[in-house]
Amino acid sequence: MIETDEQLGMNRQIARRDFIQATVLTSIALMLPSSCLVPNNENELPKNYYLPIKTGMRGSHDGSFETAHALAREGIQFDNPIDSGEYYDLIVVGAGISGLTAAYEYRKKFGLESKILILDNHDDFGGHAKRNEFNQSSSTRLSWAGTMNLEYTSFNKSVLDFLAELGIDVNTLHKKLGFAYGNDKPAIWFDEKTYGKNLLVPGFSIYSRNEDVLDRIDKFPLSEQDIIALKEFYTKDTNVLEGFSEEEIEKVLYKTSYTDFLEKYCKLSKDVVEIFIKSTDGYWGVQPHSLSVAEAISAWLPGAHRLGESASKVVGNDESEEVAMFPDGNASIARLLVCSLIPDVCPDANPKTIALAELDYSRLDLSNKPIKIRLSSTVVKVKNEDHKVAVTYVRHGKTMRIRSKHSVLACYHSIIPHLCPELPSEQKKAQQYQVKHPMLVTNVLVKNSKALDTIGISGAYCPGRMHSKVFMTKGVNKAGYHPNYEKDETVPLMFWGMMEPPKRDVPIHDQLRGARNTLFQKKFEDFEREVRTVLDGLLGPAGFNVSEDVLAITVNRWSHGYSYGYLDLWDEKYKVGKAPLEIARQPIGNVSIANCDAAASAYSQSAIEEAFRAVRELK
Ligand SMILES: Cc1cc2nc3c(=O)[nH]c(=O)nc-3n(C[C@H](O)[C@H](O)[C@H](O)COP(=O)(O)OP(=O)(O)OC[C@H]3O[C@@H](n4cnc5c(N)ncnc54)[C@H](O)[C@@H]3O)c2cc1C
Repeated sequence: MIETDEQLGMNRQIARRDFIQATVLTSIALMLPSSCLVPNNENELPKNYYLPIKTGMRGSHDGSFETAHALAREGIQFDNPIDSGEYYDLIVVGAGISGLTAAYEYRKKFGLESKILILDNHDDFGGHAKRNEFNQSSSTRLSWAGTMNLEYTSFNKSVLDFLAELGIDVNTLHKKLGFAYGNDKPAIWFDEKTYGKNLLVPGFSIYSRNEDVLDRIDKFPLSEQDIIALKEFYTKDTNVLEGFSEEEIEKVLYKTSYTDFLEKYCKLSKDVVEIFIKSTDGYWGVQPHSLSVAEAISAWLPGAHRLGESASKVVGNDESEEVAMFPDGNASIARLLVCSLIPDVCPDANPKTIALAELDYSRLDLSNKPIKIRLSSTVVKVKNEDHKVAVTYVRHGKTMRIRSKHSVLACYHSIIPHLCPELPSEQKKAQQYQVKHPMLVTNVLVKNSKALDTIGISGAYCPGRMHSKVFMTKGVNKAGYHPNYEKDETVPLMFWGMMEPPKRDVPIHDQLRGARNTLFQKKFEDFEREVRTVLDGLLGPAGFNVSEDVLAITVNRWSHGYSYGYLDLWDEKYKVGKAPLEIARQPIGNVSIANCDAAASAYSQSAIEEAFRAVRELK
């Protein structure tokens, strides 16, 4: 087993291509452009500015959160801004899918000549809908940095019409997707640090009933008794709710945690239950001890077969596996929206070729254009004054004030009370109820997929690790991206994870805040060491050389990830008009409120619908 950072390749020389990219990007970050990069005005971005290729820490990257934290955590006021004299019809806060959609809808409603400015604190647009792009070998490799798929079966007509207007045909994107999140050749990997020895069990999925592969469980690092109990759990149909009244069944389904269900009703020991703890990390950001039985089963965890016929129908999986997907996820939607708003960024952009279309970021913020996107700009104040809105933002250390007729806040709701301190206290409280789930998506480009192919797996669930799931992303053959893997080609591995909440037995909002603090305190090298350790333990025995075969690592740290959706164990059934989301999203003067937080629903369709509503509310 590898023990030192050096053996893990932590000090590996950066490959030549990374080095060139890193040098260009560092000069951008330091605002020390070489003469060929000098932009015409201070907001314009240099010609070589193209952040999707940047490796290292992304998501909540350095430079994106400091101003907001100074405002929200330290109460620092950004008084005495420089009044730039800029005036817009609309200023949007947040360049995620919701903010970009709001700009698009505003232009439709108020006229093509509308002057619009979109501000975002990150150095790239898209919010969660960003991509990671790797050019470390001859062919470009794309992976998802955050928002991945279009859950189109739950789209309403207005969302479908909107996508159609952008030229997006979800049916084409859905057909022959050929992508299964590593579930087509699954495995479970028990790591040495947690389980005493490294042990890979191919062919086992924690999510399915595994009736055909029971012998795999025999290998698990569990006592003989636990192995028998786990086999019984997956195979026996005995109804654990036999003889329960309807009321008692409801209580088990909606008011019992999934882990209690496993322990108390299915008689699994704490050691066995622990194997399930990280099973919802990557795609939910809430662990099964805080999810009800119904929620966990609807998210593919096993157990419906132990509930009897009628109850198992009620909790059937409501999460459709029918998804449509661009090769870079909904980053393509963000890219298409940007190109529609600012055609100069890529005049020929269209959904058929958007995946590899070259976008010219130096066109995002040109002074002579009606619509602009200004990156690295954190809004610190939004105030109605005299039928106008005054917006203060901080960019590269300078505090600026600009004005508009209208504003849409498409940012996280929890920051809004700090931007608009004059809001009613009930509304501020409702906005702060929206505590987003901290999440982690790390993409690692490796030399080839030989080690995985040799073992015969496409991914693995890792119940003891920070990233609970890793899988190959050989890409989806759509939108102009046709990756070829016939030869010995590079492949991105996607690691999904979250931080363990410091305490499990505290209210969910405290769990989420605690996990966020842990995530936030980690440095890039902590994530790098983690993925290298996992790759060495998991794939080393199949010939993977961790110090040679890792070509690039991009960590997407989403401290404010999924919108918090109300949960069975933690939220009451709110009466119409009384849910925090409804109170939180009320417009104030010429300012309306979007973002998928406004629906308490972490989906792109919600981000789009909430943008529609926010623009409708503007008079
Ligand atoms: C890891 C991950 C995976 C996901 N996968 C899916 C998926 O597969 N399918 C799906 O439908 N949804 C998915 N989602 C949910 C995703 O949140 C939504 O689909 C959608 O992308 C959210 O868009 P939004 O515009 O509402 O918010 P965001 O994308 O969060 O955009 C808001 C923007 O506002 C910025 N902002 C905040 N405060 C300020 C300020 N003061 N000044 C300036 N800017 C500010 C933020 O930094 C951000 O860039 C995923 C989310 C995450 C984190």
